Amino acid sequence: MPALGEAAPDFELLNQFGEPVRLSELRGRNVVVVFFPFAFSGICTGELCEIRDNLALFEDADAVVLGISVDSKFAQRAYAEKEGYAFDLLADFWPHGAVAEQYGVFDPGSGMAKRGTFIIDAAGIVRYLVVNPAARPGTSPSTAPPWRDSAGTETVRTRRPGTGMTGFASLPPVPAGEPARDELEVLQDIHGILAGERFALLTGAGLSTDSGIPDYRGPGAAPRAPMTYQEFIGAADNRRRYWARNHIGWSHLRRADPNDGHTAVARLERRGLITGLITQNVDRLHEDAGSVNVVDLHGRFDQVVCLSCQRQYSRTLLAGVLEELNPGFLDRALAAGVVEMAPDADATVEDAALIESFVVAHCPACGGTLKPDFVYFGENVPKDRVERSYAMVDEAGALLVAGSSLTVMSGLRFARHAAKHGKPVVIINRGQTRGDELATIKLDAGVSEALTWLAAELPPLNK
Ligand SMILES: [Zn+2]
Repeated sequence: MPALGEAAPDFELLNQFGEPVRLSELRGRNVVVVFFPFAFSGICTGELCEIRDNLALFEDADAVVLGISVDSKFAQRAYAEKEGYAFDLLADFWPHGAVAEQYGVFDPGSGMAKRGTFIIDAAGIVRYLVVNPAARPGTSPSTAPPWRDSAGTETVRTRRPGTGMTGFASLPPVPAGEPARDELEVLQDIHGILAGERFALLTGAGLSTDSGIPDYRGPGAAPRAPMTYQEFIGAADNRRRYWARNHIGWSHLRRADPNDGHTAVARLERRGLITGLITQNVDRLHEDAGSVNVVDLHGRFDQVVCLSCQRQYSRTLLAGVLEELNPGFLDRALAAGVVEMAPDADATVEDAALIESFVVAHCPACGGTLKPDFVYFGENVPKDRVERSYAMVDEAGALLVAGSSLTVMSGLRFARHAAKHGKPVVIINRGQTRGDELATIKLDAGVSEALTWLAAELPPLNK
């Protein structure tokens, strides 16, 4: 199956009139390819009828709709006439299902295509895809048709990977300097505790401040009240406001780069010195720096999740969808004036009426509510992440906390857990933390320098 962002496999098939249709000849236009199991089977009808009834939307977007099944051109013609389909139905008849196979939607058990939709942009790149499990003839689709919300996705803009994804850098990354002399003494004591151990590592916002990401709990951070989970879930108006502001904020964000602290953490993992990394940051900078065994405790900024079916989608892709659903919105918002930009892409805008007019996107697979895939205030961390994190601490000889004030229980509990089991807890953080009394040793300093020093100075483990 072609992945999002990849070139769609080219094909040539006959339409219901026996005319050859070649995908690559449609370059310059957006193409919606809909695989359906079988003409007249009643399964496809729901989706194809939606397209038929909304064809104007697709035509407005200069999109070509192609329905494809393993039927012959004769069956396709009769089917199109009966249902009044004005778009091409292509016969993937011989070699039987070859194109469906290329797109990873051929079901060898039934000899038919699964239901699947691919939106291919003017350059031939797949920008959207949804594939449903093999459908049983005679049943109607169990999922809501995605068309109304996804009608705009065919012109999703191509963004440079990483642009406006997770970060909100307003400052250039700060290179790590040398630890100060008094810091070095404490670091040497920390070295004495961690040397020879595999330890678990817990990181927080302090790690990303050197990448220009503001720490909303750190000293000097503006007090603000992020929307709680209950508010988000509780009212459609709140969600509309949230997404409208987030849409504006997102378009302003610039991708942050990992800093020396992230690089040092990745190095600790490569050297086999840590059992794993638990991070409270949602910016994905650890992964960008090369960390592999990571629990994103509070989720990740570059994804959204459907609260009904739990499918995850790229936030970048959603940006394009929202733009299509709200043409001209960003320009008007900017004209009205963006008052404040918060670290979580929440922009404050004066024009209340504009916000009220915002159209939110729903899950293209089931029509459910989409939410950024990070843990809100008032929301629990998913259980599997907590369990993986505890396992990392249990496997470890010590716990190192870096750049977290341990304000929230989601992080503090791991320090408590380690202390309870007699494992040293080492804390490196600028300023007080809620776990200070649990700490075997505490270094009050910037984390980039300290982690860089440790990653270089800790001895290899004897295997
Ligand atoms: Zn869903």
